[in-house]
Amino acid sequence: MNMVLTDLLNGKKRVALGGHVRPDGDCVGSTLGLYLYLKEQYPEIETEVYLEGVPKAFQILCGTEEVKTEIHPCKPYDLFICLDCGDIKRLGFASVLFEQAEETACIDHHISNEAFADSNYIVPDASSTAELVFTLLDKGKISKACAEALYMGIAHDTGVFQYSCTSPETMEAAAELLRKGIDGNAIIDKTYYEKTYVQNQILGKALLESMLILDKRCIVSVVTRKDMEFFRAVPSDLEGIVSQLRQTKGCEVAIFLHETELHTFKVSLRSKEWVDVSRIARYFGGGGHVRAAGCILKGTAHDVINNISRQILHQLGQKKGQDEKA
Ligand code: 5GP
Ligand code: MN
Repeated sequence: MNMVLTDLLNGKKRVALGGHVRPDGDCVGSTLGLYLYLKEQYPEIETEVYLEGVPKAFQILCGTEEVKTEIHPCKPYDLFICLDCGDIKRLGFASVLFEQAEETACIDHHISNEAFADSNYIVPDASSTAELVFTLLDKGKISKACAEALYMGIAHDTGVFQYSCTSPETMEAAAELLRKGIDGNAIIDKTYYEKTYVQNQILGKALLESMLILDKRCIVSVVTRKDMEFFRAVPSDLEGIVSQLRQTKGCEVAIFLHETELHTFKVSLRSKEWVDVSRIARYFGGGGHVRAAGCILKGTAHDVINNISRQILHQLGQKKGQDEKA
């Protein structure tokens, strides 16, 4: 399903953009990228951007200081564009603006997205929402600031152009963005690889206390509220822990649990080759992609790990059956 930006914006005076809760690199990059483009190319439209907050590492992007982190009473927007967000609930505090808007649109690449807006541009095979935004823009009109935001989004959701979602089109988009004169290496270094002391410490603890389960085919680690307090960490400090767990040789699946409240865990799942973690996340009411997904589960850490393990074993059983038939 394609989308034509000029048609979408036709006749609109007030437009709002928003992304998912706990915004990651792609969410911030795609949302700010589109925001900067609209501000530059459609100055007659009043455009505003809503995000739960931009993690410190991403604040190098232009437009960060204009992001609204709360809602002030205002009349409904003519158009609300929701980015990198698979369902309305994940829009968090901005979901009320989405619901009130005269018209809605969604740009996303989550396999779990059920096309909940009036206009939907959902491509599950796309590397990132930032790559999708790139395809919507007039390439000649992309500014350096917009290119930086989109490049960051693509780099993050592809694990710096390494995950299997990286296609020739992804690399072509990245090349076109680099031609805008951006410093791609600095963006990747500052927003992806650079870690604060606290981030490294909590990563270290998560790795040290990780456990191999399911015949060493799965690795799991838990960060509790107590750990967060001890390290004075914020949720965005946990970014990257699950990817590091996933690197473990011999492990197909990485499970990372962050205790957000008593007996409530934000679960991050990653796989390498054959486990469809989006199926597991969706089974538990979450969503995501085949190789990266998440959900929120209640219970003790032990319960949560057991429940997820059962779903992995279920897929393992199905795979065995298929392998035997082949
Ligand atoms: P992460 O583990 O980095 O938080 O998320 C991995 C992927 O799964 C992302 O694409 C993210 O949007 C999606 N995801 C994570 N948690 C949830 C959730 O609770 N609900 C839904 N629908 N998607 C999630
Ligand atoms: Mn994304």
